[in-house]
Amino acid sequence: MKHIGTFAIWYDTAVPGWVAVSDKQQQSFGSGAKGEQEATRYALREAFPQVATAVDHLCTQYPEATSRAWAAAELLVLGHVLNPDPAEPDEVARVRSQRQAKHQYRPLRQPDGTLACDCPDFERGGLALAGEAFTNQLLCKHLLAYWLACHLAWPLSRVTPTPLHPKRSHAGRFRGRAVTAVGQNNRHELVPSVAAAQYANGQPVLPAHLTHYKAYIAYTQQRPFSQEKLFSWSLGR
Ligand SMILES: [Zn+2]
Repeated sequence: MKHIGTFAIWYDTAVPGWVAVSDKQQQSFGSGAKGEQEATRYALREAFPQVATAVDHLCTQYPEATSRAWAAAELLVLGHVLNPDPAEPDEVARVRSQRQAKHQYRPLRQPDGTLACDCPDFERGGLALAGEAFTNQLLCKHLLAYWLACHLAWPLSRVTPTPLHPKRSHAGRFRGRAVTAVGQNNRHELVPSVAAAQYANGQPVLPAHLTHYKAYIAYTQQRPFSQEKLFSWSLGR
Protein backbone atom coordinates (compact mmCIF):
# COMPACT_ATOMS: atom_id res chain seq x y z
CA MET A 1 0.00 0.00 0.00
CA LYS A 2 1.14 3.53 -0.64
CA HIS A 3 -0.22 6.89 0.38
CA ILE A 4 -0.64 9.96 -1.79
CA GLY A 5 -2.06 12.80 0.27
CA THR A 6 -5.30 11.52 1.83
CA PHE A 7 -5.46 8.57 -0.58
CA ALA A 8 -4.38 5.03 0.07
CA ILE A 9 -3.56 3.00 -3.02
CA TRP A 10 -3.52 -0.76 -3.01
CA TYR A 11 -4.38 -3.82 -5.00
CA ASP A 12 -7.82 -5.03 -4.01
CA THR A 13 -8.26 -8.70 -4.82
CA ALA A 14 -12.05 -8.36 -4.44
CA VAL A 15 -12.34 -5.89 -7.34
CA PRO A 16 -9.88 -7.19 -8.64
CA GLY A 17 -7.70 -4.23 -9.46
CA TRP A 18 -5.91 -1.22 -8.05
CA VAL A 19 -7.99 1.16 -5.95
CA ALA A 20 -7.44 4.70 -4.69
CA VAL A 21 -9.40 5.27 -1.51
CA SER A 22 -9.87 8.36 0.63
CA ASP A 23 -12.40 8.95 3.39
CA LYS A 24 -14.67 10.57 0.80
CA GLN A 25 -14.21 8.50 -2.32
CA GLN A 26 -13.07 5.23 -3.75
CA GLN A 27 -12.04 4.68 -7.33
CA SER A 28 -11.16 1.38 -8.97
CA PHE A 29 -8.67 0.83 -11.76
CA GLY A 30 -7.36 -2.07 -13.78
CA SER A 31 -4.82 -4.57 -12.65
CA GLY A 32 -1.13 -4.73 -13.38
CA ALA A 33 1.35 -1.88 -13.66
CA LYS A 34 -1.06 0.18 -15.73
CA GLY A 35 -3.77 0.00 -13.05
CA GLU A 36 -1.29 1.05 -10.37
CA GLN A 37 -0.10 3.93 -12.53
CA GLU A 38 -3.68 5.10 -13.16
CA ALA A 39 -4.58 4.89 -9.48
CA THR A 40 -1.46 6.87 -8.54
CA ARG A 41 -2.08 9.58 -11.12
CA TYR A 42 -5.72 9.80 -10.09
CA ALA A 43 -4.71 10.34 -6.45
CA LEU A 44 -2.08 12.91 -7.48
CA ARG A 45 -4.67 14.85 -9.48
CA GLU A 46 -7.20 14.77 -6.64
CA ALA A 47 -4.83 15.46 -3.75
CA PHE A 48 -2.26 17.75 -5.40
CA PRO A 49 -3.97 19.54 -8.29
CA GLN A 50 -1.23 22.18 -8.58
CA VAL A 51 1.41 19.49 -9.01
CA ALA A 52 -0.73 17.64 -11.56
CA THR A 53 -1.27 20.88 -13.50
CA ALA A 54 2.47 21.48 -13.71
CA VAL A 55 3.04 17.89 -14.87
CA ASP A 56 0.25 18.17 -17.45
CA HIS A 57 1.75 21.42 -18.72
CA LEU A 58 5.17 19.84 -19.12
CA CYS A 59 3.77 16.69 -20.74
CA THR A 60 1.69 18.69 -23.20
CA GLN A 61 4.90 20.27 -24.47
CA TYR A 62 7.04 17.18 -24.03
CA PRO A 63 4.97 13.98 -24.24
CA GLU A 64 8.19 11.95 -24.03
CA ALA A 65 8.64 13.23 -20.46
CA THR A 66 5.34 11.72 -19.26
CA SER A 67 6.46 8.69 -17.27
CA ARG A 68 9.39 10.47 -15.62
CA ALA A 69 7.34 13.59 -14.91
CA TRP A 70 4.63 11.65 -13.05
CA ALA A 71 7.27 9.67 -11.18
CA ALA A 72 8.84 13.02 -10.26
CA ALA A 73 5.48 14.30 -8.99
CA GLU A 74 5.18 11.25 -6.79
CA LEU A 75 8.68 11.78 -5.38
CA LEU A 76 7.81 15.38 -4.64
CA VAL A 77 4.50 14.83 -2.84
CA LEU A 78 5.94 11.91 -0.86
CA GLY A 79 8.51 14.31 0.56
CA HIS A 80 11.41 12.55 -1.12
CA VAL A 81 12.98 15.76 -2.41
CA LEU A 82 15.30 16.86 0.37
CA ASN A 83 17.43 19.86 1.05
CA PRO A 84 20.98 19.60 -0.22
CA ASP A 85 23.77 18.94 2.20
CA PRO A 86 25.08 22.43 3.09
CA ALA A 87 28.60 20.99 3.16
CA GLU A 88 28.29 20.07 -0.52
CA PRO A 89 28.29 23.34 -2.48
CA ASP A 90 27.53 21.76 -5.85
CA GLU A 91 24.53 19.79 -4.61
CA VAL A 92 21.14 21.34 -5.42
CA ALA A 93 19.04 18.74 -3.62
CA ARG A 94 18.96 15.16 -2.44
CA VAL A 95 16.27 12.86 -3.71
CA ARG A 96 15.36 9.76 -1.78
CA SER A 97 15.13 6.62 -3.85
CA GLN A 98 11.66 5.11 -4.01
CA ARG A 99 12.90 1.56 -4.23
CA GLN A 100 15.70 1.67 -1.68
CA ALA A 101 14.50 3.80 1.21
CA LYS A 102 17.98 4.52 2.50
CA HIS A 103 19.49 5.57 -0.79
CA GLN A 104 19.63 9.21 -1.84
CA TYR A 105 20.45 10.49 -5.30
CA ARG A 106 22.36 13.73 -5.69
CA PRO A 107 21.31 16.28 -8.28
CA LEU A 108 24.45 18.36 -8.76
CA ARG A 109 25.31 21.63 -10.46
CA GLN A 110 28.11 21.03 -12.93
CA PRO A 111 30.81 23.56 -13.89
CA ASP A 112 29.05 24.27 -17.20
CA GLY A 113 25.87 25.24 -15.37
CA THR A 114 23.84 22.16 -16.26
CA LEU A 115 22.51 19.75 -13.68
CA ALA A 116 23.52 16.12 -13.37
CA CYS A 117 22.26 13.22 -11.29
CA ASP A 118 24.08 10.12 -10.13
CA CYS A 119 21.18 7.74 -10.82
CA PRO A 120 21.45 4.91 -13.37
CA ASP A 121 18.87 6.52 -15.67
CA PHE A 122 20.84 9.76 -15.96
CA GLU A 123 24.11 7.91 -16.30
CA ARG A 124 22.64 5.95 -19.21
CA GLY A 125 21.76 9.23 -20.92
CA GLY A 126 18.41 10.01 -19.31
CA LEU A 127 15.83 11.99 -21.19
CA ALA A 128 16.75 14.65 -23.75
CA LEU A 129 13.95 17.10 -24.50
CA ALA A 130 13.81 18.82 -27.83
CA GLY A 131 12.82 22.27 -26.57
CA GLU A 132 15.22 25.15 -26.41
CA ALA A 133 14.66 25.58 -22.68
CA PHE A 134 16.29 22.23 -22.00
CA THR A 135 19.17 22.43 -24.47
CA ASN A 136 22.12 20.43 -23.17
CA GLN A 137 20.14 19.45 -20.11
CA LEU A 138 19.50 15.74 -19.80
CA LEU A 139 16.80 14.79 -17.33
CA CYS A 140 15.81 11.97 -15.04
CA LYS A 141 12.90 11.74 -12.60
CA HIS A 142 15.07 13.16 -9.80
CA LEU A 143 16.01 16.26 -11.78
CA LEU A 144 12.38 16.64 -12.85
CA ALA A 145 11.33 16.34 -9.20
CA TYR A 146 13.81 19.08 -8.32
CA TRP A 147 12.56 21.15 -11.24
CA LEU A 148 8.95 20.71 -10.09
CA ALA A 149 9.94 21.77 -6.56
CA CYS A 150 11.54 24.94 -7.98
CA HIS A 151 8.60 25.61 -10.29
CA LEU A 152 6.01 25.21 -7.53
CA ALA A 153 8.15 26.79 -4.78
CA TRP A 154 7.61 23.49 -2.96
CA PRO A 155 9.37 23.35 0.41
CA LEU A 156 12.08 20.72 0.38
CA SER A 157 11.98 18.20 3.20
CA ARG A 158 14.37 19.05 5.96
CA VAL A 159 15.91 15.71 6.48
CA THR A 160 19.56 15.48 7.30
CA PRO A 161 21.16 14.04 4.22
CA THR A 162 23.08 10.83 4.54
CA PRO A 163 26.76 11.73 4.80
CA LEU A 164 28.72 10.70 1.77
CA HIS A 165 31.75 8.55 1.81
CA PRO A 166 34.55 11.13 2.28
CA LYS A 167 36.27 10.11 -0.93
CA ARG A 168 33.11 10.44 -2.95
CA SER A 169 32.23 13.68 -1.30
CA HIS A 170 35.30 15.36 -2.76
CA ALA A 171 35.32 13.67 -6.11
CA GLY A 172 34.54 15.95 -8.97
CA ARG A 173 33.45 18.84 -6.87
CA PHE A 174 33.23 22.09 -8.72
CA ARG A 175 35.49 24.56 -6.97
CA GLY A 176 35.21 27.40 -9.40
CA ARG A 177 31.97 28.87 -8.13
CA ALA A 178 32.70 32.42 -7.12
CA VAL A 179 29.30 33.76 -6.14
CA THR A 180 26.84 31.95 -3.96
CA ALA A 181 25.07 34.86 -2.31
CA VAL A 182 21.52 35.69 -3.26
CA GLY A 183 21.21 39.00 -5.08
CA GLN A 184 18.42 40.41 -2.96
CA ASN A 185 18.73 43.96 -4.23
CA ASN A 186 19.21 43.45 -7.91
CA ARG A 187 15.59 42.99 -8.79
CA HIS A 188 15.70 45.78 -11.32
CA GLU A 189 19.26 45.49 -12.39
CA LEU A 190 19.64 45.01 -16.11
CA VAL A 191 22.50 42.96 -17.35
CA PRO A 192 24.92 45.19 -19.23
CA SER A 193 26.23 42.77 -21.78
CA VAL A 194 25.50 39.35 -23.12
CA ALA A 195 29.10 38.30 -22.62
CA ALA A 196 28.66 38.62 -18.88
CA ALA A 197 25.21 37.07 -18.79
CA GLN A 198 24.70 35.70 -15.35
CA TYR A 199 21.77 34.65 -13.23
CA ALA A 200 21.10 36.56 -10.03
CA ASN A 201 22.55 33.63 -8.08
CA GLY A 202 25.87 34.09 -9.86
CA GLN A 203 25.53 31.14 -12.18
CA PRO A 204 26.64 31.84 -15.77
CA VAL A 205 24.01 31.69 -18.51
CA LEU A 206 24.70 29.02 -21.11
CA PRO A 207 24.85 30.30 -24.69
CA ALA A 208 21.94 28.03 -25.60
CA HIS A 209 19.74 29.76 -23.02
CA LEU A 210 20.54 33.35 -23.97
CA THR A 211 17.43 33.82 -26.08
CA HIS A 212 15.20 32.82 -23.19
CA TYR A 213 17.33 34.79 -20.78
CA LYS A 214 16.98 37.98 -22.84
CA ALA A 215 13.26 37.40 -23.30
CA TYR A 216 12.90 37.05 -19.53
CA ILE A 217 14.69 40.35 -18.91
CA ALA A 218 12.75 42.14 -21.63
CA TYR A 219 9.52 40.90 -20.12
CA THR A 220 10.18 41.26 -16.39
CA GLN A 221 12.87 43.97 -16.31
CA GLN A 222 14.96 41.81 -14.03
CA ARG A 223 17.22 38.87 -14.44
CA PRO A 224 16.11 35.40 -13.53
CA PHE A 225 17.37 34.13 -10.20
CA SER A 226 18.58 30.84 -11.59
CA GLN A 227 18.45 28.53 -14.57
CA GLU A 228 15.58 26.62 -12.95
CA LYS A 229 13.65 29.86 -12.58
CA LEU A 230 14.24 30.63 -16.25
CA PHE A 231 13.11 27.14 -17.33
CA SER A 232 10.08 27.42 -15.15
CA TRP A 233 9.18 30.79 -16.64
CA SER A 234 9.83 29.65 -20.22
CA LEU A 235 7.62 26.62 -19.80
CA GLY A 236 4.89 28.58 -18.09
CA ARG A 237 4.48 31.04 -20.96
ZN1 LIG B 1 18.34 10.89 -11.28
